[in-house]
Amino acid sequence: MFQENGYSTKAMTCPRVRRIFALFSILTLFVVCFPWKSPAQIRKTCPGGVTLKVSAGVIPQGALVIAEVLGPKTASNVTSEWDGRPVSLWHEQRWAGLRGLIGIDLEKAPGRYEWKVSWPGPAGQAESCSVPITVRAGKFPIERLKVDPQFVQPNPEQEKRAEEDQKKMKAIYNTVTPEALWDGEFRMPLKVITSAGNFGRRRVLNGEARSPHGGVDLSAKAGTPVYSSQAGKVVLAENLYYSGNTVVIDHGYGIFTLYAHLSEIGVQAGEMVKSWEEIGKVGATGRVTGPHLHWGLTIDHARVNAMDIERLQP
Ligand SMILES: [Zn+2]
Repeated sequence: MFQENGYSTKAMTCPRVRRIFALFSILTLFVVCFPWKSPAQIRKTCPGGVTLKVSAGVIPQGALVIAEVLGPKTASNVTSEWDGRPVSLWHEQRWAGLRGLIGIDLEKAPGRYEWKVSWPGPAGQAESCSVPITVRAGKFPIERLKVDPQFVQPNPEQEKRAEEDQKKMKAIYNTVTPEALWDGEFRMPLKVITSAGNFGRRRVLNGEARSPHGGVDLSAKAGTPVYSSQAGKVVLAENLYYSGNTVVIDHGYGIFTLYAHLSEIGVQAGEMVKSWEEIGKVGATGRVTGPHLHWGLTIDHARVNAMDIERLQP
């Protein structure tokens, strides 16, 4: 009989080895039949053949959730809301259902919020179904600085300008275009991404907390071309006090991207831009210490990490 290293093949058939083989086979069968699913994803079957799906049931501040409705027969009458605010839903090409994006603002209070979807039933009665989304505290860097107040306190004139800028931005984000101006995948705004940081950073100046950093800072040399992440309408192209030369693009359904501290702006407000069209160049305008691109993503006023935008692929 075949022998190797002094062991008889009989050893292969001893009860202990057989038990191990049996256990291994059961485990393999289990993994094949029940593939590991991300525990974060939630899928709920609702009345009327409707299924709700969210990419994450527990999500940190500053992230985004992809919400999907599958199977409703009267898709055009489906509405949804999250924490009392409407969540737009749209049809994706090559895809049978509806999809929406829920942006979790980086300062959203942690807790459980329902995503509620409503649609008319066969007899015209209102049907609804909901899925909970739990927000947990995000992990953001905190920077404590002690500096001479005269360097951090803008003078009254600068303060007035910054306030006007803020009002302007609020008005822009309040204006929701009820259609998708984008087509296809969202892309990074630079050809090469070497580092992306500072999203949500809390800065404490002389013990006083300042508003958190709402975008992501991408390293790049001054003069590097900046591209629109996707197609849309330029809704702002001007110099602002803090963010310097700034471009904001409306992509529709309350989704906006922002590009700040540009050395040059290559587009005008009101203009339609294509996906990945050059819109300006990296610079150091506004209140910055060096050239970089500050890139922001806002979804229904929620400031989310723009680096997550690639997750919006169909
Ligand atoms: Zn920045």
